[in-house]
Amino acid sequence: MFDLVDQYQRKFSYLRLSVTDRCGFKCVYCLPNGYVAPPGKEPDLSSDEIRRLVTAFATLGVSKVRLTGGEPTIRRDIVELVHLISRIPGIKKTALTTNGSRLKELARPLHQAGLTAVNVSIDSLDRKRFSEITGTDRLEAVLAGVESALSAGFETVKVNAVLLRDWNDHEVAHFIEWVRDRPISVRFIELMRTGNQGDFFNYRHLTAGKIQLELLKSGWIQNVKHTTDGPAVVYRHPQYQGTMGLIAPYSRDFCKGCNRLRVSSTGGLRLCLFGEKDESLRPYLTDDSQHDELVARIQTLVMAKPISHHLHEGNYGNTWNLAGIGG
Ligand code: SAM
Ligand code: SF4
Repeated sequence: MFDLVDQYQRKFSYLRLSVTDRCGFKCVYCLPNGYVAPPGKEPDLSSDEIRRLVTAFATLGVSKVRLTGGEPTIRRDIVELVHLISRIPGIKKTALTTNGSRLKELARPLHQAGLTAVNVSIDSLDRKRFSEITGTDRLEAVLAGVESALSAGFETVKVNAVLLRDWNDHEVAHFIEWVRDRPISVRFIELMRTGNQGDFFNYRHLTAGKIQLELLKSGWIQNVKHTTDGPAVVYRHPQYQGTMGLIAPYSRDFCKGCNRLRVSSTGGLRLCLFGEKDESLRPYLTDDSQHDELVARIQTLVMAKPISHHLHEGNYGNTWNLAGIGG
């Protein structure tokens, strides 16, 4: 086993793999007009290609894989994918980020297949607002999916909410109440600017500072953050089973502890979420005999990972939306 290290001595143990760019939701900040296949789009990686890809990353010391999208549960073979990935030697955690629309029926089979953690995106607990944000009236189904995930026995169930000025920033108290008796980690994520948003970002972006003050005022205590903890600052409260967290990609030092690499649904390695281009690994995924070549290619590419994104300067690379690469 090697270590995958870049020129800034950051170690990569975490792969975020988009298994499809398709999605049935129309989140206002992501796919406001619904999914439309980009012209000339290649097919999503097959399960054999995914097996070869994850095996190479595992050889390089990656121990956690998150399946994302688009909406990963749109793939008919999502349970089989989890089954094969979680059995690859070296992979200790297999996680999923989902809009929760199919979680009610899938939580148990996914858990049995080896999924260890699930993140569900819920931007509002109000049915009308949820449907305004996502373009679907599926809040009830998504909440049933969360309950199903809680009873299936996952190590962690997290809920991500993108902070949207005047749309859900007044809902913090509602989310807090919701986690009183549920062991859920809610995380508010600052809206990130992408290419397809136009002025939307300017009037809906809100920094997490306001929520932080609200949490501190209501007796929530910030957990001590370790370098391996991931990007969220987490708060807990003795009277609540769940936790509340904030993810602020525009904060200083956000990239310093970056331990993640991303691969698109067509096999493009993306070194930074807000980078300029993907490097295709697909030519190295056609046959098991290419394993060593693939490992060497990944090592070479990772050395070029940039030290930071340039979001603070308004530069979001060529990221048109996050559905292509999975956030
Ligand atoms: N469809 C799945 C879902 O919604 O959870 C997985 C893919 S989605 C791109 C992954 C995460 O990225 C979601 O939590 C979503 O809310 C978040 N996201 C998408 N666009 C974003 C943006 N512009 N800023 C911040 N978060 C965003
Ligand atoms: Fe679909 Fe997720 Fe994007 Fe919403 S955030 S449109 S659920 S990919």
